[in-house]
Parts: sequence; structure tokens; C-alpha cells
Amino acid sequence: MNPFEHGEVFVLDDGGEVDMDFGHYERFLDIRCKSTWNLTMGKVFHMVREKERRGDYLGKTVQYIPHVTDIIKDHIYHIAEEGAADLIIIEIGGTVGDIENELFLEAMRQMKEDVGKAHIIYIHLTYVPIPHGVGEQKSKPTQQSVTLLKQRGIFPDIIIGRCAEFLTKEIRSKISTFCDVSPEAVITGLDVNDIYEIPLIFEKEGLAEIIHKKLTIYSPPDLRRWKKLIENIRNPTREITIAICGKYTKLEDSYASIIESLHHCSAHLGCRINLRWIETTDLSDTSVLDGVAGVIVPGGFGVRGTEGKIEIIRRAREENIPFLGLCLGLQLAVVEYARGVCTLTGANSTEFDPDTPHPVIDILPEQKAITEKGGTMRLGAYEAVVKKGTRVNTLYRSLAISERHRHRYEVNPEYHKILTDKGLVFSGMSRDRRLVEFIELPHLKYFVATQAHPELKSRMDQPSPLFYGFVQACLGEG
Ligand code: GLN
Repeated sequence: MNPFEHGEVFVLDDGGEVDMDFGHYERFLDIRCKSTWNLTMGKVFHMVREKERRGDYLGKTVQYIPHVTDIIKDHIYHIAEEGAADLIIIEIGGTVGDIENELFLEAMRQMKEDVGKAHIIYIHLTYVPIPHGVGEQKSKPTQQSVTLLKQRGIFPDIIIGRCAEFLTKEIRSKISTFCDVSPEAVITGLDVNDIYEIPLIFEKEGLAEIIHKKLTIYSPPDLRRWKKLIENIRNPTREITIAICGKYTKLEDSYASIIESLHHCSAHLGCRINLRWIETTDLSDTSVLDGVAGVIVPGGFGVRGTEGKIEIIRRAREENIPFLGLCLGLQLAVVEYARGVCTLTGANSTEFDPDTPHPVIDILPEQKAITEKGGTMRLGAYEAVVKKGTRVNTLYRSLAISERHRHRYEVNPEYHKILTDKGLVFSGMSRDRRLVEFIELPHLKYFVATQAHPELKSRMDQPSPLFYGFVQACLGEG
């Protein structure tokens, strides 16, 4: 997935690399998804082929219906059983009429026969435009897409109309009549500046109530705490600017989970966080950092922009500007420290300079064996053992931390001693002590980096400790 086209690649505990939508599911539902919960047509066809090779279809013609649709349904039923689920929420991506999702829609249609009509509801998300100059909500796109859906044998129970305003009484009644849903089942999917407002809007629109009526399984959502946190975001008592340095800065979706993590901190610390995006590719000087309260160097691949990021880290270290490094951010902080403090001239990562005299970041032999087989990365959740009394220890309140990874390179064990002798603290290591997971400089306000991506596990209810500590430091607290 190209970050320019697809936004962030979201990584799950089990190492699955999935669409960034999964990040929203995890954050909003407070669940840990599994990679089997991401079903693509590629995976489905692969399963069909495997079954066919095993001889499961012997003597039969393999067809889209029933063989492909059966695979889709069985996969879903298996997930439900495995998790002893009361309810399973299935999102069919794309738009009705897309060639990519036809077989998924057909499987969903068949499902109502399998589970019984009382046990399934169909929620259709549509677009309700307010054309410029007309100034009125229009139901045509909804009517069209509902017609397309009905042609496929799916009759929506609930329609969520995405709109810039709350749906008017008139449009609700029109959609209800034309599309054959009850008026109270026409729900506004309001455009909001902050997606965390959405659950509150759905609640106001009575969405949970409708689902309750239709499925008769219900526990009233308790949104009191959520509401309080949203209140804090709406009414901040202070304001700071944080710099994020990267090369995909034009496409903020590439850093979605980082933005979310900062947002979670805003809610808990009652501060507004302005983001300053810094493109480091042709950075002439570090004046772009003037006036920022702190700086984040996020993950990334490829040499472009790395020297600019190293310059930024140097200034953060020398001028005691709070710094948070994520994955590549840790690697470049180590390179900067090796050059600036350990006087290892020309130190670098072999990803950016294969001939560097000091490969402080390198692919370890054990990873090389894997990468040569098929470009696999170190993916998913790994445990780090934390050094007592460090910043990382205090923030996580734990001596064992599990965070998610997505990278190939590591701090080279041959340089561990030089770096630590010169004052760099390895605050978290893999259990075998070969891999550096967290680093920090204790004498600075906040200089912490991790080889992992803690942003992937941050929640509104429980912000990622590393981000929380960072924002506190940016506010001059903690
Ligand atoms: N490019 C680096 C590596 O592969 C860092 C990856 C990242 O930041 N996710 O190790």
C-alpha cells in the first residue's frame, strides 16, 4: 500500500498490515483486531484455490456462487465462533456497483437466509449533498444507491445519510418513503471537524435504539466519560504547536495514528495542539522549528529527507526541545548521537548509506535471513524489557511493554557499548538484549524514542504513555 494513495499502513498485534480503517475500529471499539478480520478478494480467491488443490471440490465446477460466496460466509462465521461473538459488524468497503465488492454483497444477501431475518440488519451509508446554489438537501444519490442495493437483493434497515447538516424532517420522510425504511431509521452522518463527535451524534439520532429494536440485543451505551473528554477538546485551556517532520507531510493520512494519539492527549491535558508539518527533503536550516513546543520524527523508509531529520534532531537535542522519535525517528536519533556525541564521523544506517564507516543502524543477520526470503519486516507486537527508573518505566508504569513494530533495521549491537558509554540510555530492550526498543536522554526535558509504533495502540480513554509524556513536556509539565 502506497502511503500517498492509501494513507497509513496499520499494523495489528499479530503482524497483519491492514487498511487504516482498522485503526479507527480499534480506537472506537477498544478492541484488538486480528488480520483474519481483514478479508480481501485476493485472500478469498487464494482460499478457493487452496480448497480446489486439496480436492475439496472434486468432480464439481468451481463457481462464484456458491463456492466463492461460501468461502466469504464461512470465514465470517468462523470468526464469530472463534470469538464467541454476540454481534459481528461487517463493513463492505467501496460503493454499491463497484466490481470489487459484488461477491461480498452477494454473500451478505445470502446471509439473511442462513442466520434468519431477525438476526441481521443492513445499514447503508449514503451521501446527501447540498448542491451549491440550491442550498437544499438532496435525496437523489440515496435513492439511486438504494435501488442498486435492492437489485442485489439487499433491503437496508437503516440509512445513514452523510451530510454537512442534520437531515431535515422533509428529507428524512422522503428517503423513508422512496427507500422503504422507517423515518426514525434515517440517521444523519454529520460532517464533523472531530470524528470523536460521531458517537455522540449517533446517540442523539437514536442509532443504538433502532439497532436495539431490530436486533433485540442492547446494552445502552454509556457515553458520559467520552462526552467529558470531547468537552475538554472543545474547550481547551491552553495551546501549543508541535512539529512533525516527514516526507509524506502533504498527505496527513500517512500519519493518521500519530494525529489521533496527539488528539487523545489533548482530551486528557485540555490543550489545543496545532501541527506544523515539516517537509525535510530540502531543508536549508532548522528555523522551521522556531516557536514549536516539541518535535516528532515519525516512521519512514528510504533516504530522502533523512539528513534534514537528523539536523532537526540535533537542534532538538542541543536546545532541549522535547523530542519523540518513532521507529525511523529512533534510528535517526541514534545516527545523530553517534555523529554528534560519539564523534563517529559518517555514521549512518546501511539503509541510507551501505558503505558508511559506522553502520550504527543495520540489518541484523537473523533479519537478513528472513528478508532475503521475501522482503518480510519485523511486524506486529513484540515485548520490551524496561530499565527501572527510566522515563519510559515511569510513563508506562511497567517493566514489560508490548508495542507494535514495522521495520527491518535495528540499532547495531556492535555499537551498543559506545553509545551507552557516551550517555545514551537504552531504556527498553528485547528480552535477549540484542534489540534496542527504547532510548532516552535523561538530562533533557524529553528526549525519548522507540523502535516501535506506540501510536497504533493509543486510545481516547488511554493515550499512549510516550505521547502523553511528550505532550506534558511540551506543556512544561511532568
Ligand atoms: N526504514 C526503517 C526500517 O525499515 C524504519 C521503518 C519505519 O519507520 N517504520 O527499519
